Parts: sequence; structure tokens; C-alpha cells
Amino acid sequence: MTQKEKQKYDYDVIIIGGGIVGAGLFREQSLHGLKSLLLEQSDFNSQTSQGSSKMLHGGIRYLENMDFSLVFEALKEKNLWLRLTPHITKEIPFYLPVYKESKWPLFLMRIGLFLYDLLSLFQNTSHKILNPKKTLEHMQGLRKAGLVGSGVYYDGIVDDAKLGLECIYDGLNNPQCNALNYKQVTKVEKNQDCYQVTYKDKINDQTETARAQFVIFATGPFTDQVMKKLEIPWEPVILPSKGTHLWLDGKSLPIQDAMVLQTKDQRIIFVIPQRNAILVGTTESPIPENTNMLDIKPTQEEIDYLLSVVNEYFPESNITQKDILSSFAAVRPLVKAKTSSSKTSRHHKVFSPQENMYVLVGGKYTTFRKMAQDVNKKILKKLNIKHDKKITLNPLRTTSIVSNPFTEKVSHEKIKEIIQSEKVRTKDDLLKRRLSLPSLRHFNDQELEKILKDLDLE
Ligand SMILES: Cc1cc2nc3c(=O)[nH]c(=O)nc-3n(C[C@H](O)[C@H](O)[C@H](O)COP(=O)(O)OP(=O)(O)OC[C@H]3O[C@@H](n4cnc5c(N)ncnc54)[C@H](O)[C@@H]3O)c2cc1C
Repeated sequence: MTQKEKQKYDYDVIIIGGGIVGAGLFREQSLHGLKSLLLEQSDFNSQTSQGSSKMLHGGIRYLENMDFSLVFEALKEKNLWLRLTPHITKEIPFYLPVYKESKWPLFLMRIGLFLYDLLSLFQNTSHKILNPKKTLEHMQGLRKAGLVGSGVYYDGIVDDAKLGLECIYDGLNNPQCNALNYKQVTKVEKNQDCYQVTYKDKINDQTETARAQFVIFATGPFTDQVMKKLEIPWEPVILPSKGTHLWLDGKSLPIQDAMVLQTKDQRIIFVIPQRNAILVGTTESPIPENTNMLDIKPTQEEIDYLLSVVNEYFPESNITQKDILSSFAAVRPLVKAKTSSSKTSRHHKVFSPQENMYVLVGGKYTTFRKMAQDVNKKILKKLNIKHDKKITLNPLRTTSIVSNPFTEKVSHEKIKEIIQSEKVRTKDDLLKRRLSLPSLRHFNDQELEKILKDLDLE
């Protein structure tokens, strides 16, 4: 394309959706020198990508479906991000207790965990098998009756909202790229040989437009609803599946390490101590087509289900509602398949409903970099630019000012600096994502109120 032709557009690409997938697309385009605009209707990474189980993982349970290619790819990505962003990720052990009646007996566990390490090309810290005595030494309070041992394997945990933010900050190092939050796309029109995208600011109601040669939808579980609203011809592909999590008070269970609990209904629930709290999740249930995805909340039934699973394994702890610090829910952007949602593959899909328009859905948080590569490769080819698959293997150029408020001192000056340079527009943005506070009750409210009092935020 000549320079003159290029000037017909404001941007090469407009990305709609600023979850982890949009953030991954944006970073890679920036690194390849593209002019890219990312538009997010809420704050960046405030939807599904902050409602995950916060694991970078290969997906131990996908081994059951013999989905080896997905596990291989995800393990590679997990180990990459553990290396690239050690300030917001961590490899930790996961204990999988095995009982006489467990679906996965100990011998199968041994084979499965070996396979898991093999598929990581032995980059995972090696798994172990423990006898009941050793298991109980690590997991005090765990139900003893019928316990035959446990498997221990290693996966990553991540500050899910933060990694997406950091990919966006990294992308912004290219001055031709821009990322805007609270901009809801309301119209996408094909205008001769480019797309004109109209977007409305959800805080001040102002409407603007931008033109680009390519448009990418990275709208996750919102995709079918967005396509319908924008009147783009589209066959629905999403099988929305809701997942709820609880944050329990860290003192409510006597465990230091993460656990994987097999349930009677053949699912698994993760119990992951983090900071001064314990994350428990998740559930899996379909939701009606027209559900407002910006307002997804846990139901009492889901909360009771998670509490009952934990109590079954830790009968003496007697966890009740009073041990819950907070709860949250999100929707998996699964791509439709004929079987039930738990059997649905987590592989991602790329659709192209119109020329130079791409829709990237499905996948997992862990595989966002690979997902982005699949679409960016197509765009770069059309622009006659060589795709460098190694470009995203480099460390991030810019990381957030405060990575972890529990280990770093958050001064008034630092908070001001975050607000000025990290695209904060509401208190929620600051507290939940820039400062990574999963619940206000995890923080000293008075201290925070003092700091926030004179800040000019919505
Ligand atoms: C309960 C649960 C647990 C999970 N646990 C894990 C896990 O531990 N590890 C893992 O690897 N994966 C996990 N996943 C999967 C992972 O979270 C998702 O695959 C991933 O976050 C999806 O990212 P996304 O960017 O596609 O979607 P989103 O994060 O939802 O981003 C899409 C964005 O598009 C925006 N948008 C929609 N419409 C518009 C519009 N008109 N204009 C502008 N913006 C718009 C939305 O506001 C949203 O922010 C989990 C998922 C769930 C639900």
C-alpha cells in the first residue's frame, strides 16, 4: 500500500473489545509497527478477563478428552508468561486428593500428571504422588475417610486483570497506537474500502468516529449480542457458560497450597490461597441468550454448591456464608458444539464475516497470545508485512506502576501517578484493576478512603 492510500484511514486496525484477547492483539500489532486503535466499552480487562480462575494453566482436565494439542499449547504459553511477567504471575503446587471413590484413581493420576509434565516438555516443576500421611501433613483438616493419597502438579496463577492492562501499556509504546476505555462501539459501516466505526463515551456520552482498513471483534462472550446490535450478518456461535467464584477469608481453611477437588457431579473445583484470601471456583451453567452480560452475578444456589464441595473435603471447618469475603461471576466465551458445555473444546476460532473483518472467539486466557497471532498473521499478510512470531516473546516494555499493593507500598504520589498514566477513569478502575484489590474488604478501608478523598474520579 502506498503512503497516500494509507492516509485514507485513521488506523490500520480497529480492535473492538479490551479484554485479554483484544489486549494481546493490540500488543502484537504495536510491536509490528501497525497503527491500531483499541476500543473497550468498560474498563480494560473488566469483564470475563477479570472473572477467571486466575490460572495460567495447561488444563489438566482436558487430558481426559485427549485434547493434547490444546494442553501442549497452553502449557507452553503458561511457562512463557511465568518467565515474562514474574511480578504478576507465580508457579504454585496444586494438590489433588484421591479417595477410594474418586473418578481418577491414583494410578491414573500418576499417568495423567506424567503426561502433563511431558506435554510441557518438562518445563513444569515435576509432579509428585503422596501417600495419605504426607497428604494430610500438607492439607490439615482434609477428610481422612477413604483417602488413598494425592497427586501434586504445578501450574501458574496470574493477576488476570493486570496482565491484560500491561499488554495494553506495552502496546501504547508505539505512538501510532491508541487504546480507549469506556468507548462503546455503536456502529460499524463499510465505507468504500474502509470501515467507519462510531463509538460513544459511556461516561460523558460524546460520540466519535474512526476509520480503519481492518476491524477485529475481540468481544468474547458478548460477540453474538454485539453482532446483532450492529446488524452485521452473523450466525450465532457462542455457547455462553457462566462460572461463579468465591473469595473466602484466608483463615477459614487450614491450607497453604492450592487444591483441586473432584466433585460428585464429575467436575473439579479449584481452591487457591492467594494473599490473605482463598479463591474457590468455579461453577458451570448455561445462561439465556439475551442475558445482560455486563450484569452477571453469582446466585445463592451457585454459592451454596461451592460451599458444599469445600465442606465435603473439610468437614471440620464448617464454612458458611460468613466466611465469604466476596463473590463474582463471569461468562466463558465457548464456541458452540453439539455436546454439553464441559465437553466443549477450549480451542479458539477465527471468523471473517466480511472482507477485512475478523471475529476472534473462544480459547482460554492462557492462550491469548497464540489467538492474537492467528488473526494478526492474516492482516500482516494482506499488508505485505512479514509476521515475526518471535516478536511477542520479549519482555514487556512497560509494566504497571504498582504490581501488587500488598507487597509494594502504595503512596499518595504513586496513586496520582497511576491515575495520570494508566488510563484510570473511575474509582473501580483504580481499586479493582490498577491496585488489584479483589474485594474492598481485603484492604484497610479507612486508609484507602483517606487517599481517595481528594482524587478527582467518577
Ligand atoms: C469462570 C471462568 C473461569 C475461567 N478461568 C480461566 C483460567 O483460570 N485460566 C484461563 O486460561 N482461562 C480461564 N477462563 C477463560 C478466560 O477467562 C476467557 O477465555 C478470556 O478471559 C476471554 O477474554 P476475551 O478478551 O475474549 O473476553 P472479555 O474479557 O469478556 O473481553 C471482551 C470485551 O469486549 C467488550 N465489548 C463488548 N461489546 C463491546 C462494544 N460494543 N464496544 C466496545 N467493547 C465491547 C467487553 O466489555 C469486554 O471487555 C475462565 C473463564 C470463566 C468465565
